This record gives sequence, C-alpha cells and structure tokens, in this order.
Amino acid sequence: MGKKVVILGGGVAGLSAAHELAERGFDVTVYELRRIAGGKARSIPVPGSGKQGRKDLPGEHGFRFFPRFYKHIIDTMERIPYGNNPKGVADNLVEGTRLGLARTDGPPVEFLTEFPTSLKDLRALLKSLFDNRLGVSEREFEHFLDRIWQVMTSCNERRTEEYQDIPWWDFIDAERQSEAFRRVFTGMTRILVAAKAREANTATVGSVGAQILADMVVPGGSASRILNGPTNEVWIDPWVEYLRQIGVDYHKNARVERIECNDGIITGAIVTKNGETFEVKGDYYIAAFPVEVMAEMVTPEMAATDPSLNNLKKLAESVDWMNGIQFYLKEDVTIIHGHIIYIDSPWALTSVSQRQFWPRFDFSEYGDGQVKGILSVDISDWEKPGILYGKSARHCSPEEIRDEVWAQLKAGLNVEGKVVLEDSNIHSWYLDEDIHYPNPDGLPVNLEPLLVNKVYTWDWRPHAYTAIPNLFLASDYVKTNTDLATMEGANEAARRAVNAILHASGSRAKRCKIWDMYQFEPFLFLYREHDEFRFRRGLPWNGKMIASLG
Ligand SMILES: Cc1cc2nc3c(=O)[nH]c(=O)nc-3n(C[C@H](O)[C@H](O)[C@H](O)COP(=O)(O)OP(=O)(O)OC[C@H]3O[C@@H](n4cnc5c(N)ncnc54)[C@H](O)[C@@H]3O)c2cc1C
Repeated sequence: MGKKVVILGGGVAGLSAAHELAERGFDVTVYELRRIAGGKARSIPVPGSGKQGRKDLPGEHGFRFFPRFYKHIIDTMERIPYGNNPKGVADNLVEGTRLGLARTDGPPVEFLTEFPTSLKDLRALLKSLFDNRLGVSEREFEHFLDRIWQVMTSCNERRTEEYQDIPWWDFIDAERQSEAFRRVFTGMTRILVAAKAREANTATVGSVGAQILADMVVPGGSASRILNGPTNEVWIDPWVEYLRQIGVDYHKNARVERIECNDGIITGAIVTKNGETFEVKGDYYIAAFPVEVMAEMVTPEMAATDPSLNNLKKLAESVDWMNGIQFYLKEDVTIIHGHIIYIDSPWALTSVSQRQFWPRFDFSEYGDGQVKGILSVDISDWEKPGILYGKSARHCSPEEIRDEVWAQLKAGLNVEGKVVLEDSNIHSWYLDEDIHYPNPDGLPVNLEPLLVNKVYTWDWRPHAYTAIPNLFLASDYVKTNTDLATMEGANEAARRAVNAILHASGSRAKRCKIWDMYQFEPFLFLYREHDEFRFRRGLPWNGKMIASLG
C-alpha cells in the first residue's frame, strides 16, 4: 500500500481508475490536458455567454445517454457523494420513457422504452412499430427479429470469434431488403455512438441492440437514462471533488508530452503545466488517453517490449467524427420524453430536449437569463452531403453547420403541417469547441474523434495490462465485456487496469467488480449452452430454434 500510481488523462477512464485506486490506499496523481475534467463526457460552458453575473450557458461535447444495461459506471456513480442522495450522483439519473424515430414523410414514431412484460411483447412491440407505420413488411420484420434472436441466443465464443468480423449490414442482409427496412434498421445503429451499419461489427451492434430492445420489454425501469442537469454540475465536478477528498491529486491544464521507457519499464512521463516542463514518476502508470493519442505515445522501446502496442496505430484509424451542437431556445420545445433518432437525416442526427429532465436547474441563472430550453444534437455523419448546401459537415463553416442541422431537424419534426421548430425560437447556439477551424480557408480538424467499433478490430484492441510490467491501459478502446466505446466501456477498462495493478503489486485489496455485459441469463441459458456445444464442433448457429419458440 502507499504505492504511487500516475494516471495520464483525466476522462471517465482516468477518473474511474483514480477512484478505485485511492479507495484502496494508493497514492494517485492524474494529469489532464484540458481545463475541464471529464474528457469527452465533459460539459463545456459556452465562453462569454453569461451576462450580468450569470453563469455561462451549459454546452457539451455531445449529450449523455446511460442505457439500462450499464453497470460499471453506475456502480461508480453510486459511490460519488451528492447532497443527501442515498445513491450519490447515480440518483441524478432520470429515466427517459420514449424513443422517437423522426422521419420526413410522417410524424415521429414514438415507442416506449419501458414496457413491463415478457419477450413475447418484444414481438408485439416491434410488430406494431415496424409493420404498420414505417413500411417494413411482415416478412422483413420477422427476418430482423430472427437476426436479433440469433445474437441473443449465440454463445460468447461465437460473438467474439465470428460476429466480430461480420458487418451488421451483412448480418441483417440489408442489401436484399427493402429501402424501408434499410432506413429503419440501419438508421437505428446511429444511437450506438455513431456506429455505421456497413462497417460496425455484429458482435457489438447486434448484442447492444438486442440488449436495449430487451430492456424495453423487461420490467424494472426504462432502457434509457439521462442526467438531471449539465454533466459536470451533477456528476463530474462532484466526482473530482470527492477524489480530492480521498487524496487524489488531479492536475488540469497538464499536457503529457511523452512517456519514457527504458530497459523495458516505464521510468517516467514528461508533463508540461503552466509553461513548465517536468518529469513525473510513479511505481505504476495508467495511460488513460484516447486511442489516437496513445498510439502516438508508443515509442520504439515500448513497442519492442510489447509488440502488440503497434496495433494501436491500426486501431486509431477506426476513429470517426461524432460531435454535438446545442440550440438554446427562447421557448422550451419538449418534443418527446427521451431521445430522437432522425432516420432520414444525412448527417445522422440524434437529439434530446434537456429542460424536461433538468427540473432543479434554474435556467434564469445562465446566459442572459432568457434561455428557456436546450435542444442538444449529436452529428454522427460528417461525410454525407446535407440538404441545404449539398456539402458534408466537414466542409461547412460553423454557421453552415448550424443552418444545416436546424434544417434537418425541421425536416424530421415539422411534418404534415405541424410546426415543432420555428426559426424565430433560436436564442443562440454552440458548436463543440473540438471542431477547430485553423484558418479561414482550411478544413476543420476534430480534436477529439471517437472510436467506432468496426469489423476486424477486436484483435487489435489491447488488454488493460501490457508486457511492460508497470504500464496499464484504461480507455474506451481496451478489450472489455462492454465492447463499445462508451463511458461504460471506459469505466470497465479502468477497473481492469486497477485489478492488474492490484495483482502486480501483490495487493490483497478487494478486486474491482467486473460484470458480464449481457443480461439474457438465465432466461436464454440453455439456448446459449446449446450454441456453445455447436460452436465448439464448428457448426453454425441453429436457426431452427426460432421455430421451436412458437
Ligand atoms: C459526441 C459524443 C457523444 C457520446 N455520447 C455517449 C453517450 O451518450 N453515452 C456513452 O456511454 N458514451 C458516449 N460517448 C462515448 C464516451 O464519451 C467515451 O467513450 C468516453 O467518454 C471515453 O472516456 P475515456 O476516458 O476513455 O476517454 P476520453 O474521454 O477521451 O478521455 C481521455 C482524456 O485524456 C486527455 N488527454 C488527451 N491527450 C492528453 C495529453 N497529451 N496529456 C494529458 N491528457 C490528455 C483528454 O483531454 C481526455 O480528458 C459519446 C462520445 C461522443 C464523442
């Protein structure tokens, strides 16, 4: 005990690792590049928007969605004190009861994200949804259901060894289905942090999609949760404060320049803070950078000791753009009680109208006091031409992005004569500061892209431990049960890194709990056992079981 751990990067993974280690008596220091803690999950106050002593308007990198299947991050949140909340900041999560599919040829299709009944209801629910209102035929609906059922009843080995290399598009045979089918079922993958149906692997999209659908029909709460205020106010800042209280030294505005590796071990990290460059040393190091940063940190000496670290460069090519824009409204527009996927929007938009979930948040204390609502929008496709200027988001100026996103939102919501969004209702707007416009003519760069789970990338993803005995990795790209670059995946990765440090240091402290991702057990246990039996004999999944379900 008392061993020193240096954590490089202070996003969800870095904070999670610091939390687990400090509670186990380690001496922990975190070095974070930015002025605000939390990495991609952080809130970003809109610079200069607070008037007459008010606070700046709450902006963000992208809105935060906590599906019900999250366990690791929720467990951590329950241990972050917040006022009199019995379950700490986890009590700041509220349920969204609806998911909306906005389309351009009819009103948004809404469906419940909580539905207290059995798997049979999944059939009924999907049927009513897809069969009647979105033009998906009975046969196609059955086909989709079969594919989801296949994922749910497949064994873990098949998921990892087979489905990691099958694009979701191929798995659902999208090419041979109708346009209506493709529109709905490939559009829906966008809620899974920018996954594109043609590139994303079936293990991830199929399993997470099946889990979300199952959570909608299994009693016990909504499949979707959202914070009841700006992320840093109701989660990240109380977290950093709690970590300080338990002894964590968290440095903001501290850039890690490089990691020093000599004779096969890490001997230090070079950090610049307040114009001063110095070396930091510890017994153990956790690199909690995003993959594209970590890939650049790998030195020839590190790669010589652990050649698998060379894979990070290949993995880093899987990052893509997903960034948010917020519209501050003069009058609140609720739309629906949850998230909306704009299935026809070329820029793959999703949104949430936040005020309804922020009951204790006094809007008059922010900006000029006139903002009454916030529509937070994620843009997940930066390549496809838009409907207004015919340009991709990457080729647009910030103002063009604003106009284009607003036009695509209106195309999905202002249908059949209904006016949900009015131009005159925009008070102001804010595009993620990570979209950086270096010069008037140049294309923007994205300072924080996101790893998207693609086919054939599982083998490149590293474990939380490395062959360098004092270097551990914690971020959303590490191999985890969660298998999706999310806050849940980042937290699980951190737990794995901490467990590896406990092992390496000979600590007898309790290991961090790691959960299985999928909650289909014990319900589907026999099916999956049977599939494991078949998989080990080189046999395909047995589709006949669908029929036996009746
Ligand atoms: C728009 C958007 C919306 C999303 N929505 C959701 C959602 O609804 N639900 C969900 O679960 N997930 C969501 N995600 C994914 C989720 O935000 C990330 O997977 C998760 O936050 C990653 O955490 P991390 O700690 O692994 O990495 P990061 O958040 O990237 O943290 C890494 C940290 O390292 C720091 N760093 C980088 N370089 C250096 C350096 N040289 N020196 C020091 N520090 C450095 C960074 O500043 C950062 O704080 C979303 C992502 C995006 C982009």
